Amino acid sequence: MTRSFAEIFGRSPEGVWHAPGRVNLIGEHTDYNDGLALPFALSRGVSVAAARRGDGVVEVVSRQAGESVVRASVDGGPVVAEGWPPDRAWAAYPVGVARVLRDHGTGGASLLIDSDLPQGAGLSSSAALECATALALRDLHEARIEPAELARLAQRAENDQVGVPCGVMDQSASLLCEAGHALLLDCRSGLSSKVPFAPAEAGLTLLVVNTRASRNLAGGDYGRRRAECEKAAARLGVPALRDVTDLAGALGSLRDPVLRRRVQHVVTENHRVEAAVGLLRAGAVTELGAMLNASHMSLRDQFQISWPEADAAVDAALRAGARGGRMVGGGFGGSVIVLTAADRAARVRDGITATYERRGWQPPAFLEAVPSAGARRTA
Ligand code: ADP
Ligand code: MG
Repeated sequence: MTRSFAEIFGRSPEGVWHAPGRVNLIGEHTDYNDGLALPFALSRGVSVAAARRGDGVVEVVSRQAGESVVRASVDGGPVVAEGWPPDRAWAAYPVGVARVLRDHGTGGASLLIDSDLPQGAGLSSSAALECATALALRDLHEARIEPAELARLAQRAENDQVGVPCGVMDQSASLLCEAGHALLLDCRSGLSSKVPFAPAEAGLTLLVVNTRASRNLAGGDYGRRRAECEKAAARLGVPALRDVTDLAGALGSLRDPVLRRRVQHVVTENHRVEAAVGLLRAGAVTELGAMLNASHMSLRDQFQISWPEADAAVDAALRAGARGGRMVGGGFGGSVIVLTAADRAARVRDGITATYERRGWQPPAFLEAVPSAGARRTA
């Protein structure tokens, strides 16, 4: 990475920063309802080689985006309002981060980006890109920003600069996770605590299955679910669905069947996160499977955001003897996670692949998820 940086920018980088992608073990669509989530960091992620610029310009190149240089001032308004052409739309993430961080003591930089994380697969390559950039800018300009605050600023960049209304989970996971642990995240207070999670030590494997169905954020379904949750909270007279303490009472008082389903999912999903944390703290990792299955059914039937390739992958995994599995991420495409005994992992993979073959779908891709360290300087 050092040599290419010199070839592109004509000088050496001052350092290299890495931020991982993440998988959310459980707690899906709870973050924007002020609820709980339990993500962990992957070993894969985005690396950024970087050097300061004193002129308030940020210039970015990505090996995954054609290697042409995108230059912009850190002094602009929201990138999303500038209508960048599609071939440089990706640069809204790093440039957006630079613009948001500018008010917190950072400035311009040259950035070379490289990644081994699939994009749009639900593993949060967007947050990894934001967080690697944010960490590089913070360190280069010696700005004093704590990791939890940095996560909120990276989220703000995705919300305001890119125009994606995401919660803070992905950025928190990328910046705060530790190896061998998941991160219990309270999305209301922003407080987090680490929870031991080392599947391999329990003889288990956590597979991430890229279902090859790519989701379409432009479809607006994510925004629609958020709006439904907000509407339900307003009708129930609570600040957020996190605050529903009497589920039966809430369901009884809502007339709209769609809103009832959304509430049912969010409230029970928060309980599943708490139950999962209890199991992990008790060393009962194997029992997590049932929780994943319940989460999947709730996302499929109540939140209604699953997709055929995900349902088929979970079903095939269970038929092959996996402990449990569920869809992850925004929905309508992306990945599924499967928890299985390590010595059954090959059989589970084959079972899913055979199902896809029978349906005439593109073969799925597998990756073993090992709970890894959060974002850091690597050189
Ligand atoms: P996810 O975060 O699940 O991978 P998103 O749609 O939120 O999916 O983010 C993917 C987008 O992030 C890509 O379309 C691209 O704009 C940007 N991105 C991620 N990684 C890179 C990279 N290595 N180089 C350039 N852009 C990237
Ligand atoms: Mg994303």
